[in-house]
Amino acid sequence: MITRFAPSPTGPLHLGHAFSALTAWDLAQAAGGTFLLRIEDIDRSRARPEWEAQILDDLAWLGLRWPTPVMRQSDRQPAYDAALDALWDRGLLYPCTCNRRDILEAASAPQEGAPMGPDGVVYPGICRTKPRTGPRPGDTALRLDLAACQPFVKTPLSADKVGDVVLARRDMGTSYHLSVVIDDAAQGVTDVVRGKDLAEATPIHLFLQELLDLPSPAYHHHRLIRDDSGKRLAKRDDARALSLYRAQGATPRDIRAMVGL
Ligand code: GLU
Repeated sequence: MITRFAPSPTGPLHLGHAFSALTAWDLAQAAGGTFLLRIEDIDRSRARPEWEAQILDDLAWLGLRWPTPVMRQSDRQPAYDAALDALWDRGLLYPCTCNRRDILEAASAPQEGAPMGPDGVVYPGICRTKPRTGPRPGDTALRLDLAACQPFVKTPLSADKVGDVVLARRDMGTSYHLSVVIDDAAQGVTDVVRGKDLAEATPIHLFLQELLDLPSPAYHHHRLIRDDSGKRLAKRDDARALSLYRAQGATPRDIRAMVGL
């Protein structure tokens, strides 16, 4: 068994992250398997080396160990490009130049507003007719044409419910969905442990694995750690940062108890 914890270094780890990392670690330990760490830093405008260093320090303090070197997504663009090229050559991607406002205006029905999918407003398909010939464009977003993928997958995703998924963002050259699927496969991850907040992304990941001929890991979606008012902890919830509990003298055992482990 291979599990992983895949934080984005865009803020401090809080109790919710600790719960996720410990759950993945415990699962691997119980099976005599391996726990991996992967740094998900495709959003270079928000990722900071200081956060990455703090994350490594907090996780080691919690008692977790992982093989090095740690995979960092900012080093992985060639792998993402290869997948994008293959999908482009199969005619399954199209360039999209829409901004948020274009999408909202085209998607909104007079009464109900805009239909929502796992990635927000369901993309209404404005750019679907753009040409897909020639070399893959590198300067626009690329969306996956879900209807055109139908012949290649057993379980289709509905373009009306999910919306054609962005696989390459203009500013990043990849996307969360594409990177996570390629990297889980490259690292041989057998069991993905992550929060229920990402459960909606899992059908997209299973779909991409089938399309790209990659193995599908088992998915475990754990409960979310909430604050006293019942709200799920967000990245900006620095009040529950592990580093603060550490500074106040908490032990790793205390952290485990706080998250119910
Ligand atoms: N990097 C994602 C996050 O920080 C987690 C990705 C995943 O577990 O699939 O929320």
